[in-house]
Amino acid sequence: MNIANWLNDAAHRWPTRPALFEGDRQVADYQRFADHVRALASELSEQHGIQAGDRVALFMKNCCQYLELFYAIWWVGAIAVPINCKLHRNEAAWIAGNAEARLIFTDDGEQFAQGELPEGCSELAGLRGSVDHRIEPLSVAAPTPRHADDLAWLFYTSGTTGRSKGVMLSHGNLMAMSLCYPVDVDAVSAADAVVYAAPMSHGAGLYNFIHVRCGARHVVPASRGFKAAELFELATTLGDVTLFAAPTMVKRIVGQARQQGYGGEGIKTIVYGGAPMYLADLQDAVDTFGSRLVQIYGQGESPMTVSALPREVIADRTHPQWVRLASSVGLAQSCVEIRIVDAERKPLATGQSGEIAVRGATVMQGYWRNEASTREALVDGWLFTGDIGYLDHEGYLTLTDRSKDVIISGGSNVYPREVEEVLALHPDVFEVCVVGEPDPEWGESVVAFVVARDRSLLEERALNAWFVERMASFKKPKKYVFRAELPKNSYGKILKTDLRLWLKEAASTAAAP
Ligand code: AMP
Repeated sequence: MNIANWLNDAAHRWPTRPALFEGDRQVADYQRFADHVRALASELSEQHGIQAGDRVALFMKNCCQYLELFYAIWWVGAIAVPINCKLHRNEAAWIAGNAEARLIFTDDGEQFAQGELPEGCSELAGLRGSVDHRIEPLSVAAPTPRHADDLAWLFYTSGTTGRSKGVMLSHGNLMAMSLCYPVDVDAVSAADAVVYAAPMSHGAGLYNFIHVRCGARHVVPASRGFKAAELFELATTLGDVTLFAAPTMVKRIVGQARQQGYGGEGIKTIVYGGAPMYLADLQDAVDTFGSRLVQIYGQGESPMTVSALPREVIADRTHPQWVRLASSVGLAQSCVEIRIVDAERKPLATGQSGEIAVRGATVMQGYWRNEASTREALVDGWLFTGDIGYLDHEGYLTLTDRSKDVIISGGSNVYPREVEEVLALHPDVFEVCVVGEPDPEWGESVVAFVVARDRSLLEERALNAWFVERMASFKKPKKYVFRAELPKNSYGKILKTDLRLWLKEAASTAAAP
């Protein structure tokens, strides 16, 4: 089944329900939303010859038209290729080329100079002023029939650890992901307003489906991005707001809320995930927002759907096991099984740490035109995530790190995450990120990049003393690098690759005669 049927159904059932909002202003009900989509679908097929299976890229900031274009692409059976709008034009052109996209929608249709886009790919403006004048006679009345395995979304990985790959997500994958949401993450109703504060090309965009299915409201902030104060105003005006946020965004939201004396009025749920949430930050978030937080763990290859940590568990700070449970990423979501495996990919016992493997209806079809990577990641339906973790006796999954990030120092494994957790608890540390640096004596040594709340108050000595009181001293950072901020991608993930590169360059400069 074509996932665009969900919009078709919603428009038939609830034509007058409010659907699309720019800020707090309604711009379309479900009837109008579907009408715009049909008009755009006609344009795609008649004027541009887009057919089932063709790829159409979106390189735009968040906007209501993003959703319309998504559904128009699926309506004609084509495959959406959302590209992170913060990427450089060259990177976007690379993705369009890799996906062999026939069209690329940009805000104004003028992002690329002649010759910058791959042959056969044309640029079009996605934002065209008022959407109303686009309603034209319709040639594409209903969504093109699609099979569950047919592709709907090429999800280009954020590339924090290397070159981006196109994860092939089918209509069936997206439906399974969406249907897990109300069972494992949060109940959804028509009264809800999903606010797209994070890029729609990624996790936030993936949460549109279940909200379309339930006839809820879709809200793009007027700033078209993430501003905590704007979010609070929207939540207060619209009510029942749900949003997806990376942990670094949650941290900013909490900081701003405390400054303003805002307690989360109008926010129903903040779903966080995509990167580790340190316990110190989670404590602050729960103190500020109470039971509004839910955690998910997933990756593009099993989008938003590996495990979930329910709001009751996160909010119950008095539970004797709170630290253990809140440090986990929760329980397997309904449509997946989780297994922990050793280096030979053999299953490990409960409590043992190894690579996390996942099997189920959300697992990707493979990487686009990349058989070698597909063979490496997918074996007998199991997806090998590259994340390291363990399952406890109750089925809670705890992530220790990405396998690529583990530091091997003097033959011992050091998980950056555990070092970061300890340093993040220090009252004068605002943010921290730990990476390994090649070391002639130890193989690798531990380096901590630290953002201090007030640099004049924070001494390396104090951090060391804090550390050795809490953790084995062989894990202690050999070096601290103080920074005003840490490099992040537009999803709020800290770019460890940039930090490693910086260390490499600093080492070669120091070695130069
Ligand atoms: P992406 O495919 O870009 O969404 O990145 C997925 C990766 O982000 C996962 O493989 C994990 O390493 C990390 N990740 C996702 N969710 C969480 C979470 N809740 N806690 C810690 N790391 C996470």
